[in-house]
Amino acid sequence: MNLSFNQIESLSNQFGSSFFLFDVNKLHDNYQKLHTAFKKRYPKLIIGYSYKTNYIPYLCKEMDKLGAYSEVVSKLEYDLAIKIGVNPKRIIFNGPIKSFEAIKVALDNGSLLNIDSLYEIDHIITYCMENPLQHVKLGIRVNFDISQSNKNVLQEGYKNSRFGICVANGDFEYALKKLSQVENITVTGLHGHFSTNERKVETYITITKELCRIAKKYIKGNLEYIDIGGGFYGELPPEFAITAPTFDEYACAICKVLNSEFLIEEKRPFLIVEPGISLVANVFTFIAKVMETKKIAEQFFVVVDGSVHNIKPTMHKRNLPMQIFYSKEDNPENGLFHIVGYTCMEKDYLAYEVAGKPPTQNDYILFENVGAYTIVFNPPFIKERPAVVAFDGNSYLEVRKRETLNEFFHENLYLFS
Ligand SMILES: *Cc1c(COP(=O)(O)O)cnc(C)c1O
Repeated sequence: MNLSFNQIESLSNQFGSSFFLFDVNKLHDNYQKLHTAFKKRYPKLIIGYSYKTNYIPYLCKEMDKLGAYSEVVSKLEYDLAIKIGVNPKRIIFNGPIKSFEAIKVALDNGSLLNIDSLYEIDHIITYCMENPLQHVKLGIRVNFDISQSNKNVLQEGYKNSRFGICVANGDFEYALKKLSQVENITVTGLHGHFSTNERKVETYITITKELCRIAKKYIKGNLEYIDIGGGFYGELPPEFAITAPTFDEYACAICKVLNSEFLIEEKRPFLIVEPGISLVANVFTFIAKVMETKKIAEQFFVVVDGSVHNIKPTMHKRNLPMQIFYSKEDNPENGLFHIVGYTCMEKDYLAYEVAGKPPTQNDYILFENVGAYTIVFNPPFIKERPAVVAFDGNSYLEVRKRETLNEFFHENLYLFS
């Protein structure tokens, strides 16, 4: 997507002084690349799009149309999938908190359900008692050690993941035993999503092998799927200077394990992958208008009508790749500048020490790679959240409007007097 200053200005006049742009064709492209990489090596494939990464309803619907299942981790996300018309049999319900009601709806609807903790077993058994004629299938998220050569690979360097039911301490066996006492329950799937620092291919080999081992030992003939979760790298901007594995490299390693663990083709389980960030990160940009560029001591501060909360809610210090759209050509200044936002926090920096020609009033800055864990993490802080505008190659469609006072302080929620 190549935009000119005039195009940006006209979009800004229409949609607000800051807004997100969603490149629909790029989403299709990412999906097809991931799908092809896995499908050609392992045809029994299900891709479940991780809603929490970015659950703009229009995007979720696009994913559904592309053929992805919906991977949800709360009843709220589950209900969103239903609301946009997803077939409930194509919803994968994960996550640590599930009420009895949520489990009941998922089982009534025939959704795929992966339990994360032992308490869910009680809900499921209650459900099975109430519905003795229904055959209930479920998956279990398992917890095991994925450290590589004694090094912790989990995000933040944690030694143990907090998710799933632990295999090493016997909890998993206990869970299976308890579930096996109810006649109309079958455990048909295993789930193993891990968030790691480096998203390495070797880690996925470990995860896939371990899931296969556990499946063969405990589930055998009932096995229908192995769900290895998400966490893959997508295509990264060169500015990040990270050499990320490609979809082909992930798929090659993972499918090789499955194909060699399950030699008889008819007996192969489905492989479920649950990508989030790898499909949507590079699909969104954020555009913010420059209000003023001021000088404090000898430093330039470019003040924009956007916030770090729009583009980097985790407030990491890495500058995103960006493009500047200048309204005039005669800017004589050159040097280092910071880009700062509309909130009243000192640390609201959208970028640090950018080198070049500081933009000035009425210029625009476009930040790239802001599609994952941004819009969903944007707090209702100080200002209404901006519009999200989708571009499909032909036209612009406002898929989320800018919030107004009424939506921000919804009359059904707040008491005003
Ligand atoms: C967050 C999450 C994903 C997606 O992870 P990404 O790193 O965005 O690919 C997949 N599955 C589960 C269970 C998750 O919690």
